[in-house]
Amino acid sequence: MSSEDEPVKTICPYCGVGCGLKLEPGEEPGSVNFKPWFDAPVNEGALCIKGSSAVQHVDHEDRLTEPLIKEDGEFREATWEEALDRVVEGLMEVREEYGPDATGFFASSQVMNEENYLMQKLARRYGTNNVDNCTRLCHASTVAALRDSLGAGAMTNSMADLRDSADAYWIQGANPAEQHVIGHSKYFKQAANDGTTVVQVDPHENKTSEVADIHLQVKPGTDIPILNVVLETILEEELYDEEFIAERTKGFESLEAELADFDAEEAAETAGVDLEKIREAARAFAEAGNGAIFTGMGMSQKTCGTDNVQNLINLALVTGNIGKPGTGVNPLRGQNNVQGTSDVGALPNVLPGYLEVEDPEDRAQVEDVWGFEVPPENGLTSLEVTDAAGEEVQGLYVMGENPVLSEPNSNEVEANLKELQFMVAQDIFMTETAKLADVVLPATSWVERGGTVTNTDRRVQRMRPAVDVPGNTRHDFDIVSEIGTRMFGEGFDYDGPEAVFEELREVASIYGGITYDRIGDEGIQWPCETTEEEGTQYLHKEEFPTEDGLGKIRGVSHQPPAEVEDEEYPLVLTTGRIEEHYNTGEMSRRSENLMRKTDHNFIHVHPADAEARGIEDGDVVELRTRRGEIDVTAVVTEETKQGVVWTTPHFADSQTNRVTNDAVDPVAKIPEFKVAAATISVDVAE
Ligand code: SF4
Repeated sequence: MSSEDEPVKTICPYCGVGCGLKLEPGEEPGSVNFKPWFDAPVNEGALCIKGSSAVQHVDHEDRLTEPLIKEDGEFREATWEEALDRVVEGLMEVREEYGPDATGFFASSQVMNEENYLMQKLARRYGTNNVDNCTRLCHASTVAALRDSLGAGAMTNSMADLRDSADAYWIQGANPAEQHVIGHSKYFKQAANDGTTVVQVDPHENKTSEVADIHLQVKPGTDIPILNVVLETILEEELYDEEFIAERTKGFESLEAELADFDAEEAAETAGVDLEKIREAARAFAEAGNGAIFTGMGMSQKTCGTDNVQNLINLALVTGNIGKPGTGVNPLRGQNNVQGTSDVGALPNVLPGYLEVEDPEDRAQVEDVWGFEVPPENGLTSLEVTDAAGEEVQGLYVMGENPVLSEPNSNEVEANLKELQFMVAQDIFMTETAKLADVVLPATSWVERGGTVTNTDRRVQRMRPAVDVPGNTRHDFDIVSEIGTRMFGEGFDYDGPEAVFEELREVASIYGGITYDRIGDEGIQWPCETTEEEGTQYLHKEEFPTEDGLGKIRGVSHQPPAEVEDEEYPLVLTTGRIEEHYNTGEMSRRSENLMRKTDHNFIHVHPADAEARGIEDGDVVELRTRRGEIDVTAVVTEETKQGVVWTTPHFADSQTNRVTNDAVDPVAKIPEFKVAAATISVDVAE
C-alpha cells in the first residue's frame, strides 16, 4: 500500500490497450482520484471515457465488503474463517465424492497474472485441468489458429510499429475506434491520417468506418467467402510474395487447391458485397507495401472462428506481411489482462508459458518446480463446465467472472449452475453468477492491489495499489493462496505477488527475463527469455516458433453459421460492444459518466426491416431466437445491413446472451455469439 505521498502509477482496468494512469486517495474514505500519467509508455497520458471513469465504481455502494454464506436460500454475513472453512469443505467434498474432474475453476482477465497463476496451480494441485478464463469467449479461436500456424498465440506486432511502418490496414471483425479507443486515436488513426490505407470488413458501420477507405459491409458469417475472393484475386493477379512463400511457409498448394474451382461471383453474393469492391480492397492491401491485419471478435466468435483467423493468416503469409514492422496478424484483446491470463496457463490444455498439458516433457518442466504431478489429460473448457454443471460437474470456483451474463444461451447456464452441489464466487460485486453461489468472497478492486498484467501487444506492466483494502475484503491473491494452503498444506504460501512472479519466470520461458525491477514504468514485451534481452516488439523476424520454423498456409472453405435465417426467424442477429460499456457491465454500469451516456440496451434495425414490421425508432421490441426472448429498444438506422439486427451484451435487464447461440467452433470451442437466426416484433406487452 502506498497511500501517503506521490500518486501511484498503475494500469487502466478495462481494455487490453494497457493505458497507464496515476491514482491517489480521494477526500472521501475509499474514494480515489486519477491523474494523467504523461510518460506512460502506451498512452502518454491520454485516456478514453472508460479509463477516465474507471475510479467511479470502486467505492460504489454495491461493493461486497463481507464474506457471505448461503443458508436456507438466503445469504448471511460470515467471518473469513467460517467462509474459507466452508469453501475448503465444499470443494473437497465434491473431490471425494465425484473425483477432481467434477470441479471447474474459472480464472479472470480482470485480475493479475500472479493471481491467475495461483488459480491454475490450485486447479492442477486439486487434480484437474478444468481451468479456463474468458478468452474462451473472445479469442480462443484466434489463439488456436495463431499457435497452430505461426507458433505463438498473440499479437505479432506492436501498436507503435503498426503506426510507424504500416502502409495498409486490413481490419476485419474489429472496431478499434470504439473498443480500443486509445490504440486507435494514438496509433491507428494517426497512421490513417498520414496515408495508411484502411480496409474494414464488418457488417456494422461504426466509428472505425470513419477512417476506412473501403468498407466491405459483409453479411455476418461470411468472412471466409469474402477472404477467399481476396486471396483468389491476389493469386490470379500475381500479387503474392513468391520468395516469402518459398522460404518461410508451407501449404501454399492447399490454398491453390482450395481456390482452383472457386466461384468468386457466388462468394461475393454469399457475402452480400459487390465483387469488384472486394477485388479493389484486395489490390489496395496487397500492393501497398507493408500490410497489417487486425482481427477481432467478429472473426473469432463463430463456429468457423479458427478457420476465419486461418484465412487472415493465409492473407498475411501469401503477401509476405509478417516478421517485420508494420505487418502481421494482430488480434486486439478486449480485457486488461486476457493475454496474461492465458500466458500464465489458466487454460484447460496449456500450462504456464504455453507448455502443453498432454506433452509429458512439458508437464515434467512444471512438475519439477511445483513438486506434484499435473493431470495428463486436457480439462474441460468453461462452456463445457457450465454445460455439465449439475451432472458430471458438481463443484465450481469462479474468480472475477460472470458466466450467467457472459456465456451464450444463458437461460440454460443459469439453470445448470443452480444444480451444482457447491459453488464459490469471488468478486467485487454481487454478480448474477455470485447470486447462485453457496459462498461469496469479497475481493479487492483494481485500485487496491498490485501485481502485473499483460496488454494486447504482449507488454507486461505493473499495477500498484493506491488505497487501503476496504471493509473486510481481501486480495484475490491472498484468498487463493489461503485456500490452497488450507487444502494442501504447502505450495501456496508466498511472500507476496513478486514471489509468485519469480516462480512464473521459472516455468514460463517467455517471461524468463522479466523481473519486477526490469518492468519498471516502461513494461517489457514478451518473449523475453533472459535478463540480457530487452523484450520483443514484433514476432517471427527470422523464423516461426513452429516445429519446422515455417508458417502454415491452409486453404479453408465457407461453412455456414450453425443457424441460418428461415421463415420463423428471418433476421440475422449479431452483437458488438459500445465505447462506453464493458462486457457484462458489472463495472461500467456502476459508473455515473458511462451510464449518463448510455443506460439501457438497444438494437439497430435497418429502416426497411423496421417498416416491414411497423417498428418505429424508440419502440420497445421483442427480440426472439430459439433460446428465448428479451425486450430491447429499437434504433432504426442504416448502420446495420438490411436483414441484420445488431445489439450489445452489456445490460443485465435486457440480457442479450439469453438469446445468443451456444454452438461452438470444433477446434477452439468458442461459441458463435455473432450469428443467430432471430425475429423482432413490436412488444405488445408495452
Ligand atoms: Fe482504458 Fe482501453 Fe480506454 Fe486505454 S483505451 S483508457 S486501456 S479502456
